[in-house]
Amino acid sequence: MKFFVTGGAGFIGSHLCTRLIERGDEVIVLDDLSTGSMDNIAHLTSRERFHYRVGCATDRPLVKELVDRADVTIHLAAAVGVRLIVERPVHTIETNVQGTESVLDAAVAKQKPVVIASTSEVYGKSTQIPFREDADITLGSTMNSRWAYACSKALDEWLALAYQREKGVPVIICRFFNTVGPRQTGRYGMVLPTFAQQALQGEAITVFGTGEQSRCFGHVKDAVEALLRLVETPEAVGGVFNIGSDEEVSILRLAEMVREVAGSDSPIRMVPYEEAYAEGFEDMLRRVPDPAKLLGAIGFKPSTPLEAIIRDVVDYERSRLARV
Ligand code: UDP
Repeated sequence: MKFFVTGGAGFIGSHLCTRLIERGDEVIVLDDLSTGSMDNIAHLTSRERFHYRVGCATDRPLVKELVDRADVTIHLAAAVGVRLIVERPVHTIETNVQGTESVLDAAVAKQKPVVIASTSEVYGKSTQIPFREDADITLGSTMNSRWAYACSKALDEWLALAYQREKGVPVIICRFFNTVGPRQTGRYGMVLPTFAQQALQGEAITVFGTGEQSRCFGHVKDAVEALLRLVETPEAVGGVFNIGSDEEVSILRLAEMVREVAGSDSPIRMVPYEEAYAEGFEDMLRRVPDPAKLLGAIGFKPSTPLEAIIRDVVDYERSRLARV
């Protein structure tokens, strides 16, 4: 099959492309290299079935051309990372909403299937653990920039479902939970690569707030597997699916585990939120997916154990730091 992957030079995108090329599919990537990078796809550029264009998902004529050339579009291009969102809210809202609109609109003429990458952020501050796809969402005030991201992705979901209902575009929505693995950068505030780098460099590991807040970390390879199985499942069309592990860990415990795996003696430093983030930021205490719907649809859920995931990230960071 021929896949068009927006954001293909990003973290999840590059793992998806690697997998597609390995199994013999053809891939066209569109990436503006804002948070993605050529390094992520350097191992693919010489492959015959791999093509890439540098550009934005908001470039409608270009997106139309590439959607038409492919059998399936996987729309991963988005503004990501809580730091970026708080610092550049206009960019976040515009990139996320206009990019998705452009992809969906391009898919109408030939009724091409589209997978939309969404996020567990859309559950907002919900305390109904675990999060089910059909549960209510609870977003914070418009005065907190963080929620602009959640809201933009929720609008992406509504747009996708509306395009399916009204214009017949087959869509699948993937709500990715904290997805981690090699090649994820710590530059935009993501916790695991940040902790791994700090531990390996003997710097203090910075735990924000009390460290009692928790997350569930899923391996990017599992996320890619789930996404590709959904694409092959006709019943998944029109569905919204949580994609994430349900193994929960507090951020303080995560810091301790990273330190152990890295064999580091870095101290753990508790950093108050006011110091860690710009004003307008609000963290959430727990975020756990209910994996039942995904499991029912494809017979699979992300379940690589946390320790193995941390090992993978630490190994990657160790070899990356040795190169710089
Ligand atoms: N976090 C932390 N130290 C860091 C970066 C993040 O303690 O250096 C915390 C952050 O406040 C949050 C959790 O780790 O509670 C996960 O943060 P991340 O940005 O990776 O993802 P998200 O907030 O979107 O779940």
